[in-house]
Amino acid sequence: MEDKRFNAFRMAQQQFDAAAEKLGLDQGTREFLRTPMREFRFSIPIRMDDGKFKVFQGFRVVHNDARGPGKGGIRFHPQETIDSIRALATWMTWKCALVDIPLGGAKGGVVCDPHNLSQWEQEQLCRGWVRRLVNNVGPLLDVPAPDVMTSGQHMLWMLDEYETLHSGKYPGFITGKPVGMGGSLGRTEATGFGVGFMIREALRQMGMNPHDTSASVQGFGNVARNAIQLYQQLGGTVRCVSSWDQKTQTSNAFVKQDGIDLDELLAMTNPFGEVDTEQASQKGYAILPGDAWLEQGVDILIPAALEHQITAENVGKIPRTVKIVAEGANGPTTPEADRELDRRGTFVIPDFLCNAGGVICSYFEQVQSNMNYYWERDEVLGKLDVKMTSAFLSVSELAGKKQMSLRDAAHVIAVDRVARACKMRGWV
Ligand code: NAD
Repeated sequence: MEDKRFNAFRMAQQQFDAAAEKLGLDQGTREFLRTPMREFRFSIPIRMDDGKFKVFQGFRVVHNDARGPGKGGIRFHPQETIDSIRALATWMTWKCALVDIPLGGAKGGVVCDPHNLSQWEQEQLCRGWVRRLVNNVGPLLDVPAPDVMTSGQHMLWMLDEYETLHSGKYPGFITGKPVGMGGSLGRTEATGFGVGFMIREALRQMGMNPHDTSASVQGFGNVARNAIQLYQQLGGTVRCVSSWDQKTQTSNAFVKQDGIDLDELLAMTNPFGEVDTEQASQKGYAILPGDAWLEQGVDILIPAALEHQITAENVGKIPRTVKIVAEGANGPTTPEADRELDRRGTFVIPDFLCNAGGVICSYFEQVQSNMNYYWERDEVLGKLDVKMTSAFLSVSELAGKKQMSLRDAAHVIAVDRVARACKMRGWV
């Protein structure tokens, strides 16, 4: 989210500038790739349950579609801004190119807080979002998906509105649909499992046995809990998770030194991924405030909540025990904090590699929807593992060869692919 000090889009542009410099891109290509190709901002008026109308702001940004239709989630969040959406769309372009799927980068959102909206009001928002964009999204143009505080149900309302307006069945219009309604098995766990695959590869490369490691996780939503599940299956111990507390408008860290019990914590978590402090305390979790999740003496940190979480101000609190930062969230580490982690020799698995499992599986879902033929879960997750592991290996090979960070290497690979696609199309 944007605040006075932080602008995610500026950060995305700084990251791009550094990669463009390394690649020696010409001025025209730099200018073209620094900003999104298409942006939509619109109002969505809906009638609230009390009968009054309320107007919400909606966005859709397509950063680049040279390699294929735009792809990216839709967020419902009160602090969403056009710049946070621009940044997320830019990161989607690099992510799709890095894992080599034929899709471009896009992102959308609605400035709202679903905590305060009924199901009916949320349905109207979803339908209103699609009505505003009905000719600017579509299976061959721009394909949305869920993101923070949106779910398969939201996607299905959006699909239904799109199909009603276009008088046909277009299951490839949107991904993240519920299984049985055009969704792919494995999609729910794909992003978190992908994070787990990347941690497995990083540990392998560092010669560490997962059984001897521990982790602390920021967030307890879709990405976090599935990353935890896979990491625990690998043999690791999660000592801390944190989540937002809507009542107090602060975050809490839930710590158990001998390891959290995933099912136990899930049973005391609301649909927004917020853990109930009272129940957690009764079950013996120590509850600590704010940044405590990154102060734990663990081997691995998994930021899996929001952007701008590891910053110049708090990076110094990360103990030297931490050897890996696996970025489940988009943009969790600011460039200043990133430089400090790089100086320390921390193995940072950059967001657009680490959390690419979601978009890869979304791509699989789109392929299955277009064929109207659905694969078994193991097939989906097996294909996901192959795609992610191969992207990891190319990034780490380039990083080793050129003596650069994994983030820089990932940017160089991705930006180069997109720049070439733009050139081949004759755009720049
Ligand atoms: P979610 O809404 O399911 O969960 C978000 C979690 O973060 C919740 O547990 C919430 O309580 C917690 N949280 C929010 N603010 C916090 C704070 N200040 N401190 C601690 N915890 C906080 O969202 P998600 O789908 O898990 O997405 C998490 C991140 O991963 C986002 O950056 C998103 O863009 C990114 N991402 C998601 C997917 C996906 O498939 N869901 C794919 C790629 C990237």
